[in-house]
Amino acid sequence: MSAVNLLDFDSAALAAFVESLGEKPFRARQLLRWIHQRGAHDFDAMSDLAKSLRSRLAEHAQVSAFDVLSDSMSDDGTRKWLLDVGQRNAIETVFIPEDDRGTLCISTQAGCAVNCLFCSTGKQGFNRNLTTGEIIGQLWMAEHTMRSDKGAAERVISNVVLMGMGEPLQNYEAVLPALRLMLDDNAYGLSRRRVTLSTSGMVAQMDRLAADCPVALAVSLHAPNDALRDVLVPLNRKYPLSALLAACRRYVRAAPRDFITFEYVMLDGVNDQDAQARELVSLVADVPCKVNLIPFNAFPQSGLKCSSPDRIRAFAQHLSDAGIITTTRKTRGDDIDAACGQLAGDILDRTRLAGRVARRTIPITASAD
Ligand code: SAH
Ligand code: SF4
Repeated sequence: MSAVNLLDFDSAALAAFVESLGEKPFRARQLLRWIHQRGAHDFDAMSDLAKSLRSRLAEHAQVSAFDVLSDSMSDDGTRKWLLDVGQRNAIETVFIPEDDRGTLCISTQAGCAVNCLFCSTGKQGFNRNLTTGEIIGQLWMAEHTMRSDKGAAERVISNVVLMGMGEPLQNYEAVLPALRLMLDDNAYGLSRRRVTLSTSGMVAQMDRLAADCPVALAVSLHAPNDALRDVLVPLNRKYPLSALLAACRRYVRAAPRDFITFEYVMLDGVNDQDAQARELVSLVADVPCKVNLIPFNAFPQSGLKCSSPDRIRAFAQHLSDAGIITTTRKTRGDDIDAACGQLAGDILDRTRLAGRVARRTIPITASAD
């Protein structure tokens, strides 16, 4: 048996693994707590496990995350890790502290195949799906690094958003066990409203998620009609707005008292006009929702510009006047180049990494219950 990475296992998979070693499945609970609540990776330190089990674990298993390529801290406390996922690919994980919460933004793929017009992750193309261990490993690494830095026994990360690199629902099989670990009381114990998955609108997988693990859902809308969304989010040609909005209504039905957060990136002269605000109001009229306007993070060759602050305010006002709760993301971490899924790809391309001047927008996400 080659060594398996225990970060790849949710509680059911870990119980099955422990049984395969001839142990009682409840040992999985103890293991989960050691790994995820205490950040342990050395089996010898797991003092309440029998010595024989510890040595079998050491033989057959490991707890391993990735190499950290860089770890930078912004003046405003935003912290960004660049993580090596092999074969010259890197992903980023960003921690955003606020007064009442600490949010970790994690990646689910190296690159992305959806290729939205305004997204530089999309422009890099798709490299590969991350494994469950690599997805939950970002939370494991960030939580325990920050806890030990602070000498804190208490949790540092209160919210997780799947809004880094990649389209999480295109990597459903690996994302689902990672979500289950986030919610598991023996692991991170986050309430499902504190875990937000952001999707460009993969309708079939939205229905699966509603049935399997209905965490808070953010949907990247960005346009009020199919003609424009076909251009901005090419996935719209497969799942047009009527299908997407119907899936949103079904999702909310499966998760009562919840709402969808519609994300809308503000692009100068493209999707930010008053008429488009009106169109947006009628489009989302029968979905319990909030709208989060995202100032566009420009990058070279995008050929696009961010809407002016006045235009963003006017657009937001239209939506608010129509009774839609509307927020606009704040910019964070601009001095450490921590933009929304804007980084990584080829880690050998140091000039590009060093030369970019990007801005970070922080997700103002679901409620903090
Ligand atoms: N693939 C998923 C989640 C990752 S992208 C999705 O698209 O929802 C997370 C958010 O960042 C999305 O709302 C996306 O539209 C936004 N985003 C991508 N590129 C951006 C840019 N250049 N400026 C601002 N927001 C951007
Ligand atoms: Fe992929 Fe999201 Fe970027 Fe679109 S916005 S290319 S779905 S990461």
